[in-house]
Amino acid sequence: MVDATWGTGEPPRDVLGPVSGAPAFDDDHPPAKDLIADCVHCGFCLPTCPTYVLWGAEADSPRGRIYLMNEGVNGEPLSDSMVEHFDNCLGCMSCVTACPSGVQYDRLIEDTRAQIERRHPRTPREKALRSAIFALFPYPRRLRLLRVPLRAYQSSGLQKLVARSGLLQRLAPTLATLESLAPRLRSVPRPPRRVAAKGQQRAVVGMLTGCVQSAFFPDVNSATVRVLAAEGCEVLIPPSQGCCGALSVHNGRRAEAQRFARKLIDTFESTGMDYFVVNAAGCGSSLKEYDALLADDPAYAGRAAAFTAKVRDLAELLHELGPVAKRHPLDLTVAYHDACHLGHAQGIRTQPRSLLRDIPALTLREITDPEICCGSAGIWNVLNPEPAAALGDLKAKNVLATGASLLVTANPGCLMQIAAAAQRQGGQIALAHTAQVLDASIRNLGAPALLSPPG
Ligand code: SF4
Ligand code: SF4
Repeated sequence: MVDATWGTGEPPRDVLGPVSGAPAFDDDHPPAKDLIADCVHCGFCLPTCPTYVLWGAEADSPRGRIYLMNEGVNGEPLSDSMVEHFDNCLGCMSCVTACPSGVQYDRLIEDTRAQIERRHPRTPREKALRSAIFALFPYPRRLRLLRVPLRAYQSSGLQKLVARSGLLQRLAPTLATLESLAPRLRSVPRPPRRVAAKGQQRAVVGMLTGCVQSAFFPDVNSATVRVLAAEGCEVLIPPSQGCCGALSVHNGRRAEAQRFARKLIDTFESTGMDYFVVNAAGCGSSLKEYDALLADDPAYAGRAAAFTAKVRDLAELLHELGPVAKRHPLDLTVAYHDACHLGHAQGIRTQPRSLLRDIPALTLREITDPEICCGSAGIWNVLNPEPAAALGDLKAKNVLATGASLLVTANPGCLMQIAAAAQRQGGQIALAHTAQVLDASIRNLGAPALLSPPG
């Protein structure tokens, strides 16, 4: 039944499936009615929502999706079209930033997705694709094994041939998307288990090496370790650490995410760390919610809360500690891109900018429409290649318009997505993580080290 108290927003009347069948949600953490009721249907969030920007449909806006959740908690069944509108959400949390009423859309969509994954039958194709993704991406060792054939493919010239033929795009668009996103790989030694602080020790930090980050951006991890050590941190990097569970929790696979979270807590909690530092925005945002993820687990609830309190994004921690290592000039014009899970989900915007501005000779430029997602969004760009490419193109256009020679961001997914889009547009811009810029400044490597890193 439709909730008659639902206000005067324009409800997506056409998107619901048949009214017969089981109610959309069971009583295992359905989207909370009181959080749904916080939405006053003002529509301020609409222009910041990437799917609304692309398609202009109410059902693909935050307000429309909250309306559908309300239908679900009032007993409507989970129709295919309802699921499609929830699946279309990038989980970018731009709507959370925009909402003047403090609607916790992040909580709502996370609970909705967990219900969908448990209760909605996926098509065989969807099942196969999701199974393949979740058998690979959360496993750093499996991803690292992929590096060998991928490097051979990139360096043999086959990649250019395949790109020119357009064959992969026609035969297997999902594979073509993955292929276009893969960064140019090079060999970097794996970080040691422990790196001592340089000079006076100011903190002991555990460090997440991540899955995609460790397999495809090992140089970002190396730069992170060097910067932390230079800033007086002893860095602990247990090689047995696994995935943090971010991809799983953002895609409704809560039980899997809880398994990853418990293992990570087990790995790090006895190390004596003061902080747990993360250099990937998507991972950081879910690590900061371990307390909620494990709240129902009596053996881990308290431990998860203690762990959560120590989690810091790299820029957040460096800003908090304050600089001690000397910054050398980098004569560069830099555009800084707010990764959604850093800006919207963690509210970290000033810290990375301030760290960059502290570098002598560096000029910082802002990107138009910074709140709109680049279309990466975890695995959203793999599941939805066409709209993801459209969002990537919008972002790349705005990035290239800054005239910057270097794009800086703090998420591996954004780096891959914007690099692929800029390449499609024939744009010339180098890409780096904030850690790499700080590292180049501290080590006095000069701008060329960032504009044309060693191949
Ligand atoms: S999380 Fe992003 S895509 Fe989803 S409704 Fe909010 S703004 Fe739109
Ligand atoms: S801005 Fe907030 S209150 Fe307004 S429609 Fe969007 S979610 Fe609802």
